[in-house]
Amino acid sequence: MLTNDVIARADSVLMQTYGRQPLVLVKGQGCRVWDEAGREYLDFVGGLAVCNLGHAHPAVTEAVHHQLQQLVHVSNLYYTLPMAALAQDLVRLSFAHRVFFANSGAEVNEAAIKLCRRYSLERFGPNRHRIISMTNSFHGRTFGALSATGQQKFWQGFEPLLPGFVFVPFNDLAALERAVDGTVCAVMIEPIQGEGGVILPDPGYLAGVRRLCDEAGLLMVLDEVQTGLGRTGKLFAHEHFGVAPDVMTLAKALANGLPMGALLATAEVAQAFVPGTHASTFGGGPAIAAAAREVLRILADPDFLAEVAAKGNYLRDRLTELQRRHPIITTVRGVGLMWGLKLARPGAPVVMACRERGLLVNCTQGDVIRLLPPLIVSLAELDQGLDILGQALT
Ligand SMILES: *Cc1c(COP(=O)(O)O)cnc(C)c1O
Repeated sequence: MLTNDVIARADSVLMQTYGRQPLVLVKGQGCRVWDEAGREYLDFVGGLAVCNLGHAHPAVTEAVHHQLQQLVHVSNLYYTLPMAALAQDLVRLSFAHRVFFANSGAEVNEAAIKLCRRYSLERFGPNRHRIISMTNSFHGRTFGALSATGQQKFWQGFEPLLPGFVFVPFNDLAALERAVDGTVCAVMIEPIQGEGGVILPDPGYLAGVRRLCDEAGLLMVLDEVQTGLGRTGKLFAHEHFGVAPDVMTLAKALANGLPMGALLATAEVAQAFVPGTHASTFGGGPAIAAAAREVLRILADPDFLAEVAAKGNYLRDRLTELQRRHPIITTVRGVGLMWGLKLARPGAPVVMACRERGLLVNCTQGDVIRLLPPLIVSLAELDQGLDILGQALT
């Protein structure tokens, strides 16, 4: 069979960094993807919270197509129209006054770390460069982002890491308070831990983090790489919790599948980056910026976000029902269209059973089934997916 042949050939030449599902996907449309044998799958992974507008969204495709015919790349030695417009859109839609573009989540988290250190040096002087991060967090695989990631399993074989990170448990304000001293410049945190298993902040926790940051003069850095851009039913997850950060990172869904990341900051913090301090050859390139502009135009529409929130509530009710019928689900947690089902058993067999029945879901932390459907998902598609998930659990 062609699929097995492709997999065998790929496995013989690709570095073995991934435990890939045995699927060769060739086409996507909306919430569905097809493999090379023509089999259809309902996609509740959405490219890992990337394809928020679904696969092959016509407006995004059209914008990229148009831009590809005009200008693809000139580097950041020059200005381009899509980049300028996109930065304005992001500033208009957020707490931020300034934006830096890069190409992935890890990369903008690296940029955030550099920005915090440089801001702190200028504002407060030397020896105040440490960053408090959270146990069980995920910020990416490059060295700085990896060093900020509070999961030792990702560090193994790569130490020594970048120095200067302190870890405290998520949802533990007292531990955070104890960790703050004159050597700390920032707190870096996901508003909802995604890779860590969809862990929500306790009521008042993020507001408490904000207050501690204000009292100690620390920057609050929110990694919204996964939670941002409509995933939770608000444009940015922090809007649920009544806080605004000083620095925020976005990536995953920003260009609906094309690689783009954005670092956002207030004017005061952003001025620490002056010409020569940071750069990216591809960052904010015209074709990708054109895609992201369309993404924002669609996602930031209050009606669109209200629909995501409503579908999220529907999904929550259906998942709670599912849990009642399947005691193997120990916890259901999430918001909007970002959900985790913690199982009393390993999740891999459930992922496989879903796939065999035509549904793609992800498993994180070994036993958390993570659902990240495209935000354009219909109620009928949610029903279909949950029916399959129910069968798979049986
Ligand atoms: C996925 C993710 C990253 C890393 O993004 P990459 O584009 O894979 O580098 C960083 N932070 C969070 C919260 C993520 O979910």
